[in-house]
Amino acid sequence: MDSGLYVVATPIGNLGDITQRALDVLRSVDLVAAEDTRHSARLLQAYDIDTPLTAYHEHSDSGALERLAQRLSEGASIALVSDAGTPLISDPGYRLVRRAQEQGIVVIPVPGPCAAVAALSAAGLPTDRFRFEGFLPAKQGARCNRLRELSRESATLVFYEAPHRVQDCLADMADVFGEAREASLLREITKAFETVRRGTLASLVQFVAADDNQRRGEIVLVVAGLREQQSVIDSETSDLLQRLVAEMPAKRAAALVAQWKGIRKKLLYEHLLALKHDT
Ligand code: SAM
Repeated sequence: MDSGLYVVATPIGNLGDITQRALDVLRSVDLVAAEDTRHSARLLQAYDIDTPLTAYHEHSDSGALERLAQRLSEGASIALVSDAGTPLISDPGYRLVRRAQEQGIVVIPVPGPCAAVAALSAAGLPTDRFRFEGFLPAKQGARCNRLRELSRESATLVFYEAPHRVQDCLADMADVFGEAREASLLREITKAFETVRRGTLASLVQFVAADDNQRRGEIVLVVAGLREQQSVIDSETSDLLQRLVAEMPAKRAAALVAQWKGIRKKLLYEHLLALKHDT
């Protein structure tokens, strides 16, 4: 095996989802650096691989990084794996990859499963442009601020979410992006209780509220980006705008509804002008 740092993707549930090349690399390298050695030991055992394992995670003391950097500079071949999927994708490894490159060590990707890409492949939402957002902040205020920053994004959005937060998170998305925005919930991908559910954000809020099982396991949320055709103003939004405009200036009413529904303020304002013109 040529020396270097091999960044190896591993299964996200189904053990069969590992490439032949990943197995060859894991078998042939001098050392496997793993986020959790006990977890990765089970994977290696399943494939009769007895390469030595060492712990490496983002909170490792700088000693762990230095030891790996030293081995690499001595010509070792090291495979980096995380607990599941592709290392560095909401997983440890960035500091080690940077360090290796700074030392002139070759870094070799060994691609394979990634929950975000698997989710996109089955979400039924546009994939020509997407934006990976990883985990949203756990606290509601910070989460809503982040969502507001994303509400005008036209690319499809991909989020990782913890099961105990999925209901609150979907409710916040419905508040900020508008209840009618389309989204998909993908749970336990490649595992026994795999679920793929596409609908409006309002319908997904109801779906997870009605079934405890939908708040268990591992979850990816894929949310359609803001599209001009989604911005077509429905009758409920139009009614709301007209009620608000009776109480405040049109620009203010448009701004409030824009924030609430995730529709461009300019479109709402133009809608109000058109209504005024009609009467
Ligand atoms: N590096 C991994 C990858 O390539 O997808 C992601 C690691 S991140 C710490 C773990 C998160 O990924 C989970 O909380 C969940 O949001 C998502 N995830 C991982 N496996 C999944 C699966 N089988 N089904 C759905 N989501 C999954």
